[in-house]
Amino acid sequence: MCGIVGYIGKRNATDILISGLRRLEYRGYDSAGLALLSDDKITLVKQTGKVAALEQRLKESVASDVREHSCIGIAHTRWATHGLPTEANAHPHTADNGDLALVHNGIIENFADLRRQLESHGCIFTSQTDTEALAHLISTFDEGDLLAAVSLALKRVQGTYGIAVISARHPGQIVVARRGSPLVVGIGESETIIASDVSAIVAHTRQVVYLQDGDVALITENGPQVYTLENAAVDRAVSKVEWEVDAAEKGGFAHFMLKEIFEQPAALQNTIRGRLDMALGTAILSGLNLTARELAAIRRLVIVACGTSLHAGMVGKYLFEGLADLPTDPEQAAEFRYCNPILGADDLVVAISQSGETADTLAAVREGMQKGALVAGLCNVVGSTIARETGRGVYLHAGPEIGVASTKAFTAQVTVLLMMALKLGRSRRLSREAGLSLCEEINRIPEMIGRVLEENERIASIAEKYAGCNNAFFIGRGILYPTALEGALKLKEISYIHAEGYQAAELKHGPIALLDKKLPVIALLNDIPGKEKTLGNAQECIARSAPVIGILTEGDHEAEQVSTDVIRLPRTSAYTAPVITAAALQLFAYHVARLRGCEIDQPRNLAKSVTVE
Ligand code: GLU
Repeated sequence: MCGIVGYIGKRNATDILISGLRRLEYRGYDSAGLALLSDDKITLVKQTGKVAALEQRLKESVASDVREHSCIGIAHTRWATHGLPTEANAHPHTADNGDLALVHNGIIENFADLRRQLESHGCIFTSQTDTEALAHLISTFDEGDLLAAVSLALKRVQGTYGIAVISARHPGQIVVARRGSPLVVGIGESETIIASDVSAIVAHTRQVVYLQDGDVALITENGPQVYTLENAAVDRAVSKVEWEVDAAEKGGFAHFMLKEIFEQPAALQNTIRGRLDMALGTAILSGLNLTARELAAIRRLVIVACGTSLHAGMVGKYLFEGLADLPTDPEQAAEFRYCNPILGADDLVVAISQSGETADTLAAVREGMQKGALVAGLCNVVGSTIARETGRGVYLHAGPEIGVASTKAFTAQVTVLLMMALKLGRSRRLSREAGLSLCEEINRIPEMIGRVLEENERIASIAEKYAGCNNAFFIGRGILYPTALEGALKLKEISYIHAEGYQAAELKHGPIALLDKKLPVIALLNDIPGKEKTLGNAQECIARSAPVIGILTEGDHEAEQVSTDVIRLPRTSAYTAPVITAAALQLFAYHVARLRGCEIDQPRNLAKSVTVE
């Protein structure tokens, strides 16, 4: 999920690796490290914190001839998924008594099994990461051919990876591979640079080969030789990078927010990966650390969160009550702390925060613990304060989120809540069959979001019509009400248009007084229970000359008839409707803000992580 750089050639690798890591810093990371190969020996340096700290450490602890004369090396910025952000967990990870070094982006799903097997054969592990198992596995397969060893090891691996491997036994080679995590090979004059992102390469060469999923490649200073894991040679075209460096950081997207919206199919795939039990029709969320008996003893859920995370929590109410018969109260985290909440030992408090550092949410966590409730964290950043203090929870695994306005974290939060509700449901009345069909639907979320993203241009052209308005309403019913709130929040935070979300029925209790032809109403008309009533509310808006942007299910002509403009979504059940609807609303807000010339990634007055109360 984070950054990889590798170099092989005639120049000093250290400088190229460090400047490459700096180019990847924008992604956010918690630790960094590098391994240099010279005189058939690997030198390893790792450091928590920033690349600057790694550079300092390198100067202090590595002899200058190694630092200045190594021509082969790999480097990494880590964004922890398994194990705290410590020096021991930073990459590269080594095996074979330090003769093999590996950097890895992604998640090795079956690492626990692999680790058990490797430990029983005498491998000593020095970190808590999933990655280290892969380093040992490759080394056990190395019988003189590094490429073959990597391919054999990867055949045993479930999960995602972009990796780079060097070995003191095979000087003059880097072996790289990818599945689900990008890797690019830059071809220079008698030198090759590999990276997880072209922005680390463009300063050296613009000739690149994009590896594809399933590729493994032997890298020498003369470029890559690419193979399948079955050892069949494959031809990968050399392309020319046309982007300037800034655009490269954003993967060719104009803003991080847009990049992150488009990352959602892959991000949610990571959120879901390995967490559905297709035999028992339930979810596997071992981080919750609750036995079936403890799960069954929970009587009530209290969700504490702020902003977008609170909206995810409000969706959670419908999920937990609908699937697990569990009364659920979403609470604004700061309010919760000051209202002297009534909590007991059979209550589960779920704290939701992308960064895991939100001060108000952290205060609510402490209040919950003080009152003797079980408290679980639902965070994106591994090892963050909320994750550590709760000691139990579920990580989003959505990858770093740079744009201040949260997008992929919201859809990942709702997806995790859905999996939690499935698990709690199965510990109660939910049948295996119902659980299985929900598992299948959860598995389809990434593909369904992908289909929403195909509507991007249409959404952009609708945004053009409304970019000049001063006010907007979002209406939704039931499980779509919190999504209406989230759509309004997205629009107001990045476009500065005054936007409000309402329960569809609430309009006529007051806000309807504001409707006129200059106030668009974004109506969530998905074909799920309750739609007929929301259609009636949309009619009421049309009758007051307000334009209605209907977010509706494809093929639903009835809903199209009450809509001035239409955004079509794939058909889903009520449980997954919030996730795919949110993606459409994110795109709408993005395009409106872009057309108004706003600072999309850093909206005024806002911070990414709100660490003050
Ligand atoms: N899963 C690995 C770890 O936690 C890799 C994380 C990353 O992609 O940065 O160490």
